[in-house]
Formats: sequence, structure tokens, C-alpha cells
Amino acid sequence: MSELLIIDGSHGEGGGQILRSSLALALATGRPIRVEQIRAGRAKPGLLRQHLTAVKAAAEVSGADVTGAALGSRELTFIPGPVRPGSYAFPIGSAGSCLLVVQALLPALLVGDGTFTITIEGGTHNPSAPTFDYFVRVLAPILRRLGARLEARLDRPGFYPAGGGRLHLTVHGGAAQRLARLDLRERGEVTSRLVTALVSALPRHVAEREIATACARLGWDASTCGVIASARSPGPGNAVSVEVAAAHVTELFVGIGEKGVPAERVARTAADEAATWLAAGVPVGEHLADQLLVPLALGSGGVFRTVAPTRHTTTQVDLLRQFVGVEVAVRELGGGVWELEVPPMAATPAAQVRPGSSPSTDTTPSD
Ligand code: ATP
Repeated sequence: MSELLIIDGSHGEGGGQILRSSLALALATGRPIRVEQIRAGRAKPGLLRQHLTAVKAAAEVSGADVTGAALGSRELTFIPGPVRPGSYAFPIGSAGSCLLVVQALLPALLVGDGTFTITIEGGTHNPSAPTFDYFVRVLAPILRRLGARLEARLDRPGFYPAGGGRLHLTVHGGAAQRLARLDLRERGEVTSRLVTALVSALPRHVAEREIATACARLGWDASTCGVIASARSPGPGNAVSVEVAAAHVTELFVGIGEKGVPAERVARTAADEAATWLAAGVPVGEHLADQLLVPLALGSGGVFRTVAPTRHTTTQVDLLRQFVGVEVAVRELGGGVWELEVPPMAATPAAQVRPGSSPSTDTTPSD
């Protein structure tokens, strides 16, 4: 077994993401890890339900030996086995984000060997996390373009505080080949614009006001760009998504409704983020940037242009250097545009090989 890698969970951004990415890399490479000082600087440090579910999920898919998997735990030792295809269900037990649990698993499942069917229950439209719509409209299509085979389906959305949303994710892993190299330096012409106001157990005027506000702010025609989506969820909730499709990428910006916050303010948050991205002229928004790094390093690498790297992004860059020896080049091109170039990691990350399966050392991209 390879040597235990010690990760300082308080490094950089120091939140839940360094833990999830460490789990993802441990699963993909088989390297045992100890994560110390988990979320040390946060108001409620240690593992919250969402993080604990990610740990348990990563342990279950790989038969890992784990110590420290408890609510509030600030230290975790995780010794993974090979990822095992099959059907899994992971209830978070709160409105914690299902998509953040996906973040801890997906990179390893993509390079795993077989089909993984995953059901997760909890929040699907949370603040400060990818929403289900973001995952299916933005991240999943890019991964598919690189050769990944995955589908996601939403049974029902989950919002804070009731939670109870449910999604299904199916990943056909491809241990035999890496994802292709990404080249996302150009955005291309904008081809469509959409504002979707998702409401559960809230009056229709909330959605109407959000569409009117977002479209007015962006100078879009609300009669052609606005869509109201009504859904049933265990509790009330609302999310407005501003989606812009361009020739080479789709980006999506979200405002999550909150009790006491006017619909107009929720819509403005999403519209203003979209306007900032449109003005920046880059293909990759700030959130997509940090989410691409681990899959690219485990695949054939890639290059993309984005806005100034966030602390989430620089923390991922540091973790990839420490964990898999991948040195991401971060270049400022001027005019607020940055280019990140990710070399592929040296060894083939076949999510480790199960006894009896035949690994391939072929690193040729599928297309
Ligand atoms: P914390 O420890 O701060 O409570 P956390 O586990 O809730 O952390 P973070 O570590 O902050 O989560 O990671 C959040 C992840 O969600 C990042 O990958 C970030 O890019 C992503 N994210 C945040 N906001 C959005 C958004 N609006 N759209 C898409 N992705 C988002």
C-alpha cells in the first residue's frame, strides 16, 4: 500500500471542497489519506452532514477503511479500496447539497471500471453549491464532450430547510481510457438565453417577478427568454437560473430564494453574475473553473480561459500539485482574462484495479 498522504484541510479556501477533492483523488488513485484540520476556520468546523455523506459514500463505493467519519469530526483517515460498480443510495438527512456529494465521487467513477448507479437525497438547489440544473446544463455536457458517459435525473428538487430532493446519477466508467484533452479558450457566439424560475409551494408571482427582473437587467425579452417551472418538493423553495448557451460552452448563474429576501434581489444576483461573465468574454465562469481541474488532471489535461482564479480554484491547484504532482500553469493574459493549463497526471488513474479485471495502460483519448 502506498504511503499515507497528510492533507491540511485548512489550507487555502479551507472549506469542504479540499476534503471532497482529496476523497476524489484518493478514490481515483488508491492513495490512503489523512485530512487534518477539516474546515477549521468555519463557524461550525469539522464534518457537516453533507461532508459526512460524501465520506461515507466514498467509503461505500470503495470498501474503504475509515476513521473519524462522524459529525463534527476534524480529522479523517481514509484508506480506499478499488471502486466497485453497483447501485448505491446516499441520503444526506438534511438539506445539504447532493451535488457536492457528487463532487467527491464523480472523478473516480469516470475512471472506474463498470457502471455506477447512485441515488442521493438532500438539497438539489442550494446556495454556494452547484445546483442540479448547473450540473446537467454546464458540467455534464463538457465531461461528455471529453468522452465521459453519464446521465443525471431529478425526481424532485430539495431546498433549504426541508431538503428531501432526490437525484439519480448513472456513470459508465471507462477504466480503459482517459477523458480527452479539453481546449476551451473561446466562448464563441451566444446562441440562446434562458431565465428559468423554479418554484415549489410558492405563489406564481414570485417566478414572474424574477423573470421580469432578470430579463430587464440583461436587456432580454422576457416573453421569449422566461420559463416558469413548478415542482413539488417536501418544502417551499425557489431558484432562478440564468442560462447562456454559446458555441463552445453553456454557463448558468443561479439565485436561490430565501425567506425574507425579495424575489427581485434573488433574480438580480443571478442576472448580475451572468452580465459579469458576458462582459468578461471568457468561456469558463469562476465556479466551473474550480470544478474542471480534478477531472482534467485525471484525464488528458486541458487548457481553458476564465476570470481571475478564486480561492477555490487556487486551492485545487495546490492540492493537485501535492496529491498527484500535477503543476497547473496559471497565466494572466490581461484584461481580466486568465488561462489555466492542466497537464495530465503521469500514471493512469484507473480508479485502481479490482482483482480479476484487466487494466489498460492505454491513455489515448476516446475522441
Ligand atoms: P464550507 O466548508 O465553506 O461550508 P462547502 O462544503 O459547503 O464548504 P465549498 O468548499 O465552498 O462548499 O465548495 C463549493 C463548491 O460549489 C465549489 O466547487 C464551487 O465552485 C461550487 N459553487 C458555489 N457556488 C456555485 C454556483 N453558483 N454555481 C455553480 N457552482 C457553485
